[in-house]
Amino acid sequence: MTARLLEGKLFARMIKDEAKQAAEALKPSLGRMPGLAVVIVGEDPASQVYVRNKERACEELGFFSALIALPKETCKEELLAEIDRLNANRRIDGILVQLPLPRHLAEAEAEIIERIDPRKDVDGFHPVNIGRLVAGERSLVPCTPAGCMKMLALAGIPVEGKRAVIIGRSNIVGKPISHLLLAENATVTICHSRTENLPAIAREADILVAAVGRPNFVTADMVKPGATVIDVGINRIAPKKLVGDVDFEAVREIAGAITPVPGGVGLLTIATLMANTVEAARLQMEGKRERTK
Ligand code: NAD
Repeated sequence: MTARLLEGKLFARMIKDEAKQAAEALKPSLGRMPGLAVVIVGEDPASQVYVRNKERACEELGFFSALIALPKETCKEELLAEIDRLNANRRIDGILVQLPLPRHLAEAEAEIIERIDPRKDVDGFHPVNIGRLVAGERSLVPCTPAGCMKMLALAGIPVEGKRAVIIGRSNIVGKPISHLLLAENATVTICHSRTENLPAIAREADILVAAVGRPNFVTADMVKPGATVIDVGINRIAPKKLVGDVDFEAVREIAGAITPVPGGVGLLTIATLMANTVEAARLQMEGKRERTK
């Protein structure tokens, strides 16, 4: 039987609608719609497309958006000063520094991310937010993993008690999604480049997440019949051809549900960024109330 297709478009729409409703519910106490600032340094073409899509999503939902485009030779101190200004800007609830940064700033990436006020860190990359996620506390969670979890919930795919296997241990995808699955009571295994017998481990998964960055990495023999397969990978194999990490055509014949690439997880990421912007606004508002009590 062919797997159920988990189309990102449908779930992204639901996540955005929910974010818009939440923003409108917050508006009377906030006095405005939420605001997101995106900082981009240099002219990386892929980053420019992502940034444009983020602005578009803000427009679509009626959020305020500010694009801070800095020249590629911007130094660390200038970028940190810009972040300080955005931290202090009351019109801005969420701050996102588009990665990757130009080479001369790459080494300072951690310092730059750590300069963002954790309550405005809509990417969920600040160590404070990572720590809270690991501790199972309320936090701003990286958008791609949070979007995948939301999709599972909206699709009615059970997580509790299930065996989840994640291939990839990056800070952006693999590690955070493993904590989110654990928080939902899945039994979680993380595989990576040094894992032995990876296909056998993958075959035990009820939920298999591929975040490797290699086309056709997950083949049909690595998938348990009926499993849910989430393909986070985005690999450009020709100028106009994107594929995921999963051998889609073969695996869809075995899996119970599968996300396509393109048209799957990628669309959830920006939708979840909108949800995170609302959550950031809420966190700051609640923080202010606490201080005036
Ligand atoms: P990364 O390069 O930081 O991490 C890749 C991980 O794969 C590493 O942890 C590594 O241990 C593991 N790996 C590499 N080779 C392996 C092997 N042979 N066997 C087992 N594991 C292996 O990548 P990332 O940032 O986590 O991204 C992964 C993929 O997801 C990329 O294709 C990226 O473009 C994509 N991505 C998509 C979205 C989205 O919005 N859909 C967001 C972020 C990343």
